Amino acid sequence: MNPIQMVDLKSQYQNIQNEIDQAVLDVIRSTAFINGPEVKKFQQNLEAYLGAKHVIPCANGTDALQIAMMALDLQPGDEVITASFTYVATAEVIALLQLKPVLVDVLPGTFDIDPAAVEKAVTSKTKAIVPVHLFGQCANMEAIMDIAKRHNLYVIEDTAQAIGAEYSFGDGRKQKAGTIGHIGATSFFPSKNLGCYGDGGALFTNDDTLAEKMRMIANHGQTVRYYHDVVGVNSRLDSVQAAVLNVKLKYLDQYSAARNKAAAFYDEAFKNEPKLTTPKRASNSTHVFHQYTLVTDGIDRFGMQEFLASKNIPAMVYYPVPLHMQKAYTDPRYKEGDFPVTEELCKKVISLPMHTELTDEQLNLIVSSVKEFLNA
Ligand SMILES: *Cc1c(COP(=O)(O)O)cnc(C)c1O
Repeated sequence: MNPIQMVDLKSQYQNIQNEIDQAVLDVIRSTAFINGPEVKKFQQNLEAYLGAKHVIPCANGTDALQIAMMALDLQPGDEVITASFTYVATAEVIALLQLKPVLVDVLPGTFDIDPAAVEKAVTSKTKAIVPVHLFGQCANMEAIMDIAKRHNLYVIEDTAQAIGAEYSFGDGRKQKAGTIGHIGATSFFPSKNLGCYGDGGALFTNDDTLAEKMRMIANHGQTVRYYHDVVGVNSRLDSVQAAVLNVKLKYLDQYSAARNKAAAFYDEAFKNEPKLTTPKRASNSTHVFHQYTLVTDGIDRFGMQEFLASKNIPAMVYYPVPLHMQKAYTDPRYKEGDFPVTEELCKKVISLPMHTELTDEQLNLIVSSVKEFLNA
């Protein structure tokens, strides 16, 4: 049995090694490292996969969020609403651009942003909402787009954890995560569901003007070389990464299916464990299981993590500290108790190994070890 990992990039690579090696070697031999044909090809492949009019590759997911906010011409002090239970990058770029992050709580079942809380947080200064499709399933986009429309707000979907997930509207229409709001921002960090072999990210939009602007911002604010129309950044996806992504994109749906199979295995194993709540599926979204996250009740989850580690099984707590309790983001507007669902989740969640290469033997060992801890 291979060692169990949170994400087994090595086994995944070994299964597609010939294709990857060839693709990477081709780039090296071409020496078209920056803006080579592989980047354009990946852009087109991802546009086709997502059904998005424009994909703008960039250097990482955090940059994608930043470029999105720069393209919307938000001004210092403008309010941007996002979830209190998320990875720090979401709030980081809001703060960096001197915008005002307005945090709202998430829903206890799906861990995604609570639309009712978003509605309550809207003020005359609100300019944008950033829903995070946490752990691999879409936030309630129909409700969020409705709020945005009524209050004339932009929506930037943080889809770093949910690429490939599909959202279903009430009328039966289906759209891929990241293509519903005005802009979608994603990450190709190696451990993400579509991960490259370094850093990478992308923006999605169906709006021609925004697409042009984001392309310009990502490229030093220029469309014609050495003529800079706006202040931009340097944020590129390199050709080696694009070549890896061109191979891996072909397998993305297969990878999502493998993750769902592992999730179903865990669900079945833990369904009668009173001390564990298995992840709830959103009614309007497929789940691509970036993480398989349990909510524990009445157990020492760090003790469980240690017990599992003693059997060479990793487990992680995403995320132990809510944004409003982070030193960098302390704010007199917020205090402990303001976001009860987020705070409870931060105290109770634990994520089990979740990736595309989990074998039944590995899953059985993980499950029996968790049960051994629970029944000790
Ligand atoms: C990973 C992640 C990001 C940032 O992506 P990087 O490529 O690491 O910059 C942003 N938001 C969420 C929710 C993430 O999980």
